[in-house]
Amino acid sequence: MHFVNAKGILSAGNGMNLYRGCTHGCIYCDSRSSCYQMDHDFEDIEVKQNAPQLLEDALQRKRKKCMIGTGAMCDPYMHCEEDLRLTRRCLEIAERYGFGVAVQTKSSRILQDLDLLCRINRKAKCVVQMTLTTFDEELCRILEPHVSTTQERFETLTTLRGHGIPTVVWLSPVLPFLNDTEENLRGILDYSFRAGVKGILCFGIGTTMRSGDREYFYAALDRSFPGLKEKYIRRYGLSYQCISDNNDKLMELFHGECRARGVMHHVNEIFEYLRAFPAADPGEQLRMF
Ligand code: SF4
Repeated sequence: MHFVNAKGILSAGNGMNLYRGCTHGCIYCDSRSSCYQMDHDFEDIEVKQNAPQLLEDALQRKRKKCMIGTGAMCDPYMHCEEDLRLTRRCLEIAERYGFGVAVQTKSSRILQDLDLLCRINRKAKCVVQMTLTTFDEELCRILEPHVSTTQERFETLTTLRGHGIPTVVWLSPVLPFLNDTEENLRGILDYSFRAGVKGILCFGIGTTMRSGDREYFYAALDRSFPGLKEKYIRRYGLSYQCISDNNDKLMELFHGECRARGVMHHVNEIFEYLRAFPAADPGEQLRMF
């Protein structure tokens, strides 16, 4: 782990990455890709130590409240968050200034901030997004080795919902020849419905691969699934998109089940929901005059 002073913290779309790199070890991680030009080992986490000051400054200058996102590139609840509490400090600032937050993580460590998330949700809006890819716990341990298992994430989603915090599942990526099965999809959907999620994001049954990410993924396949790398190479070559042969059948099932349960399942609709900052309560506005 190493510390830096960043120049800015909020992207044009109001997203923030407080760390660079990740210790969760997912074998398919896109954030490892060379195009992101990380000039340090992926596990040697870069900590943007001045993020709280930068965020406070940025929020003070904003004319309108909005949703602040975190977790798109690197997980905000990695192991180091336990000591550093950088994510927590930034969320506290968002809360103090009345902004909403949309947090994306695979770790049940997020529950250490449950009190704060509830306060943000009461004051503005807080949505927690968790990735669920693999129903089988043993397989999950191989694909996502150093983070909460799918069952633990399901329990976390249930706890969050129990405290009134809306949740969204990212059902992505799904790995061809590994978990692109009806059994896996039904297992994840069942967890999601039982946890009362508001929406499930699924971009298709498949994964993406590019330089940097591909080498790490193939090395992991060689270790745990001998012969599978060759199958990927034969089927996908150097394609960026690796779509499962079961895509059409499984996507039909996915949309049908979500529709029947009244759970949001269209990508644009969910992103709109995540971005929408709640309108002020009219009663509140009247009380101001
Ligand atoms: S949690 Fe996200 S950033 Fe971390 S290794 Fe897994 S996919 Fe990559």
